[in-house]
Order: sequence, then structure tokens, then C-alpha cells
Amino acid sequence: MHDIISFDRIDKYGPQEYSGTYTVAPGELDRIEVAETVNITIQAGAEKGDLPGEYIVDGSSTFSTALSCSRCAEAYPFAPSSTFHVRFRPRPETSVEDEEVEITEEEELDVEYYSEREMPLRDFAIEQIQLSIPMKPLCDDKCLGLCPQCGVNRNREGCSCEVSTGDERWGALRDLRLELAKKREN
Ligand SMILES: [Zn+2]
Ligand SMILES: [Zn+2]
Repeated sequence: MHDIISFDRIDKYGPQEYSGTYTVAPGELDRIEVAETVNITIQAGAEKGDLPGEYIVDGSSTFSTALSCSRCAEAYPFAPSSTFHVRFRPRPETSVEDEEVEITEEEELDVEYYSEREMPLRDFAIEQIQLSIPMKPLCDDKCLGLCPQCGVNRNREGCSCEVSTGDERWGALRDLRLELAKKREN
């Protein structure tokens, strides 16, 4: 088993299979929401694509970790399985800085541009983790979050400030309704 995806190897020996299990520390991911070490298992197959210099890597990964909720900040278990299909194409010759590579069609979304012909399977696995973490992780769709005034976790306890802000909001709405009703009468 090789744990480095090598395009030269595919050219020489045909399609390749890869698999590995890795642990990734939260610090290796650029997401502060990752609260625990990630354990990931990945399987991938790689072969030549239709275009010159194109290689297709597809397979699946499963990992487990804990994320901190973006509303209540509590850590909760997160263990998704996902499949991937990535088309690696040679990075265009033009300098990428002054010419953005344009993505026009939906099907182009799975294209990645490479400049190195080798990639450690672990790096590829880390990329899959990054892609699977939601923009705003939630412990539950119905998470009530923290009270903006006293900071208690509203999933676990109520607080007195909750009642007063609620009242004010309803009060303001009632005043607005009364005003509108008066205007209509005039
Ligand atoms: Zn939450
Ligand atoms: Zn409160």
C-alpha cells in the first residue's frame, strides 16, 4: 500500500488504490470549531482522466471528532461519512495571481489544480475533513444558544433576563400596531 498519491506512478502502472487511517490534531485544521483530535479512515482510487494531465481521484472517507456549536459553544460529537470525486488538472501556466481561474459550470466544482505530481494521502484526507465541516456547526437545529445578556446556556437553564427582553420585544410590536391602527382611523 502506498500512502502517497503519485501521478507518475499512475502513468507507469495504471490505476492505483489507496487507503489509510490517520489522526489529525485540531491545530492542523484551520477551523477553530474542531474541539477534538480527528480520526479519519479514507479509501481512494486514482486513475487518468480524459484531458491531458488530468487525474481522477474518487472514494470515501469516514471520520469522527467533536465540534463546538456556533450558538452555545458546547462540544458535540460529529462523525460524518462522505464520498468524493476530484479531478486534478495541471495548474495553468499563467500566473494565478493576476488571472483568476474561472469556474463557470457546475461540474467544474470538483476540479483542483495541481503543481506537484505527488500528494500524501494524509493531506488529501485533511482536505476532505475541511470540506465536511459545516460553515456554522450546530449541536442541534433547535439550539437556543447563549443568553446575550447573562451568558447562560439556554438549552439547559432559563434566566430572568430572557423574560424581560421578550416582553420588551412584544411591547414594541404592540406599540407599533397601536400606532398603525391610529393612523388608519385618522
Ligand atoms: Zn448548541
Ligand atoms: Zn440571561
